[in-house]
Amino acid sequence: MPELNAESIAFRSALDVVRSVEPRIADAIAQELTDQRESLKLIASENYASPAVLLAMGNWLSDKYAEGTVGRRFYAGCQNVDIVESVAAEHAKALFGAPYAYVQPHSGIDANLVAYWAILADRVEVPYLKKFEKRQINDLTDAEWAELRQAFGNQRLLGMSLDAGGHLTHGFRPNISGKMFDQRSYGVDPATGQIDYAALRESAKEFKPAVIVGGYSAYPRKVNFAKMREIADEVGATFMVDMAHFAGLVAGGVFTGDYNPIPHAHIVTTTTHKSLRGPRGGAVLCQPELAPQVDRGCPMVLGGPLPHVMAAKAIAFAEARRPEFATYAQQIVANSQALAEGLLKRGVQLVSGGTDNHLVLLDVHPFGITGRQAEQALLDSGIVTNRNAIPNDPNGAWYTSGIRVGTPALTSRGLGVAEMDQIADLIHTVLGATTPAEGSKAKFNLDPSLADRISKQATELLAPFPLYPSVDLG
Ligand SMILES: *Cc1c(COP(=O)(O)O)cnc(C)c1O
Repeated sequence: MPELNAESIAFRSALDVVRSVEPRIADAIAQELTDQRESLKLIASENYASPAVLLAMGNWLSDKYAEGTVGRRFYAGCQNVDIVESVAAEHAKALFGAPYAYVQPHSGIDANLVAYWAILADRVEVPYLKKFEKRQINDLTDAEWAELRQAFGNQRLLGMSLDAGGHLTHGFRPNISGKMFDQRSYGVDPATGQIDYAALRESAKEFKPAVIVGGYSAYPRKVNFAKMREIADEVGATFMVDMAHFAGLVAGGVFTGDYNPIPHAHIVTTTTHKSLRGPRGGAVLCQPELAPQVDRGCPMVLGGPLPHVMAAKAIAFAEARRPEFATYAQQIVANSQALAEGLLKRGVQLVSGGTDNHLVLLDVHPFGITGRQAEQALLDSGIVTNRNAIPNDPNGAWYTSGIRVGTPALTSRGLGVAEMDQIADLIHTVLGATTPAEGSKAKFNLDPSLADRISKQATELLAPFPLYPSVDLG
């Protein structure tokens, strides 16, 4: 028997220990690896973190409370958490060339909340409002929220519209940002599918937002952050960029100059688990002026920091500083462009006609199906994607007319441009074979034997690219 490597021993032993308490949890963890290994994952927001990142999270750092900041904690005995947090921040600053880094946010949404609060705290003088003194915040009506915002100086936010690829936290209803701010959206030019900067400027001049938010979850192009900063300066807005999706492309040096948000934005938020390939989490990078407000994130809007996750963030940032990560980031885009090419040459319509980043947005309308039908038909055929609205989507945000695919995860596995062309073929075949069920936007018809055949082809395609090749669970 060959000797087991360190990763296999580590994960096997960890699972044995977990199994001794609750076998179903150990089994679910092991099964997740099997399932991920067999799945053709094109979810643009997911990735595979390294064993070092994963292992940094499974330990007693998790036992520590550490509210506050490095050297200024509300709890005693934080000397090791201080090391973890400062090393993570040091790597984040060096990786992104940012003056300040706050690595506590538990997720991307939390990072945005920290940023919004910091921006408001920096800009707003707080009035005393007796009327709201004894009210429960969840009971406030929309009109009362409007009154509150008015009293606080009518805070306005200009963010990307949802159907153009914006995120719920950019001032939309289901998120608190939609209550903190009066929101107006900017979108894309219908002819090009790309951000209409002239319209954005006009809108900013008229609306006079306190915050302009750049960044997206489903926009397939580069964004000119230098131009957006110019607009923000013209109207006296704080320019925030949410690079949750493309942080890996910034870290890997794919987005430089006008397209790198760091030198242009006052404040930048991110997740750490998408293209950046770290643990689930968030971070805020900012100019020094905003740092004192950002540092109040916990306990202002965040629960106690997760020291074990900050440890894993430090590992991920350190990994992303290596030259291999730049190669990885370039390959993500090369793969995304190859996938786009493969789809285009088979006649699939793409929003904006292509991609500059890690994601491609398919318009499935010409196939006579909704995004929802396409998503499930692809899933039945072993291809994991998600449905997404497209600009001016006739099917709305639930059924949609789009499918979003991204390459960070498959690129981590080692797939290249040749495989992307094969994947484009599989996707095209499935979509072409799917028809809507009579009168339904969700149900559809797809020959099960075709779905089965595509599924097998997807598995064969993955076979030469084992996921976590160093991990053998036996
Ligand atoms: C994914 C995403 C988030 C939210 O990240 P979570 O970690 O899920 O909270 C925020 N903003 C954008 C633009 C995103 O794409």
